[in-house]
Amino acid sequence: MMELNMFIDGEWITSTSGEKREVINPANGELIAVAAEGAAEDAKYAISVARKTFDSGIWSTLPFKTRAKYLHNIANLLEENAEEIAMLETLNNGKMLLAAKTDVQNAIECFRYYASLITQPEGEIFNVGDSVQTIVIREPIGVCSLIVPWNFPLLMASWQIAPALVAGNTFILKPSEITPVTAVKLFEIFEKAGVPTGVANLVMGPGSTVGSEMVDSNLVDKVAFIGGTETGQNIMRVAAENTKKISLELGGKSPTIVFADNDLEIAVDNALFNIFLNSGQVCTAASRLLIEDSIHDQFVERLVERAKKIVIGHGNKATSEMGPLVSEAHMQKVLRYIEIGKQEGAILACGGNRIIDNGFENGFFVEPTIFTNTRPDMRIVQEEIFGPVLVIQKFKDEEEAITLANDTVFGLGGAVFCKDLEKAMRVVKKIKAGITWVNCYHVATIQAPWGGYKQSGIGRGLGIFGLDEFSEIKQINVSYKAHPVGWFSN
Ligand code: NAD
Repeated sequence: MMELNMFIDGEWITSTSGEKREVINPANGELIAVAAEGAAEDAKYAISVARKTFDSGIWSTLPFKTRAKYLHNIANLLEENAEEIAMLETLNNGKMLLAAKTDVQNAIECFRYYASLITQPEGEIFNVGDSVQTIVIREPIGVCSLIVPWNFPLLMASWQIAPALVAGNTFILKPSEITPVTAVKLFEIFEKAGVPTGVANLVMGPGSTVGSEMVDSNLVDKVAFIGGTETGQNIMRVAAENTKKISLELGGKSPTIVFADNDLEIAVDNALFNIFLNSGQVCTAASRLLIEDSIHDQFVERLVERAKKIVIGHGNKATSEMGPLVSEAHMQKVLRYIEIGKQEGAILACGGNRIIDNGFENGFFVEPTIFTNTRPDMRIVQEEIFGPVLVIQKFKDEEEAITLANDTVFGLGGAVFCKDLEKAMRVVKKIKAGITWVNCYHVATIQAPWGGYKQSGIGRGLGIFGLDEFSEIKQINVSYKAHPVGWFSN
């Protein structure tokens, strides 16, 4: 069994209180690790180290090429350990091994991308006068608190760490208390890559104590948060106290719009992938399916038929297609939503149950679940369930499709499936969401900005935008020689 410790000031340490948390394999309920359970004082210590290290300038003043080299080393070490890390991600999160492998590859690409981005030409110079210039430069923000969720533990951490590091910041990472395993692996890699002591710090423990200290502390300059909308709203309130910089990547209730001209089999296949990948535990999961009414019944019939055939199983079994939910508590939340859906009068077309037979009894598996006959005002249509639960809505024309698609407080993802590309592009531009797709889904490009409209977040991660999120932008106005201004006459 693994012992997971925090990494602060270059040392692996347990929590000050000595408290521990059990880390569980969600596929069978087995104990896989015991993690140090930090508290506010551990977060305070990590923050003070990150502050001292940033202020010393040992990282921020390094030539950008040197910082980039560290990131390349990290990527290479991730690559060398890719198999093991993917296996551990599956063990801790429950996701399919293939999905975990894809996450690791994406994380490697992310470190390499930011390593190369920082070496690109940047900045602006304005020739204000003959010997006066305005120069625009990028500087690190300082100490960054990076708080990430459990659905893509390694990847979400990497998406924040790579730009934060390369921009010259120091940081404290807090993984979700449920999924700390691959974060520890990542920090072992930082240690091997020789990242200077105090630059990268790992704390573990609850959001209510460790996380809130990371948001509240006056020694922190920036909070980058990925997680639920409600938590994000709390973070925004607290961060307002000293106008801390924040970026928030939050929840969603993303729609897939399917027009009647589609090849039915292809569209059904995509609709299943859009929601049931990672058991629906994807921030952009297309948890609402909007179908044009002329094909609705036929579409639903085929969708349900195929959903029932999804092979549920442990992520490390080659034949499995969909794994468990991440924890017992999360499974209970999803099951409660299924009950709510029934009470609201939606029709359960398939699924709806926890799977407890044939070796699944100790895992947190829920059947692929589809609700039809929904109304826009239902909670299962409006709220993020974050599980394998799809709600179907019917529309009569393009206008109604757009209205329904935009009819939640969220604006993270959305897709249009339509053979008529002109129509598809017209509609997708009207979806109020930051990450959209036409005739495909879940394509995530490191170079492209990631983030939400409306209550799905503030700011954009990835791409050049991700670097901006971890930079202060400064203008320097320079006159080559000081001259009298002549404004005041005496
Ligand atoms: P969560 O909000 O419960 O927790 C996220 C992280 O915040 C955890 O590390 C948690 O410990 C910490 N936290 C909790 N309360 C805190 C507080 N008061 N102060 C500081 N930190 C606190 O979310 P979750 O259940 O771990 O993850 C699922 C959510 O994440 C979903 O809503 C999903 O849509 C969202 N998500 C969004 C994106 C995106 O890119 N937009 C990506 C992945 C996940």
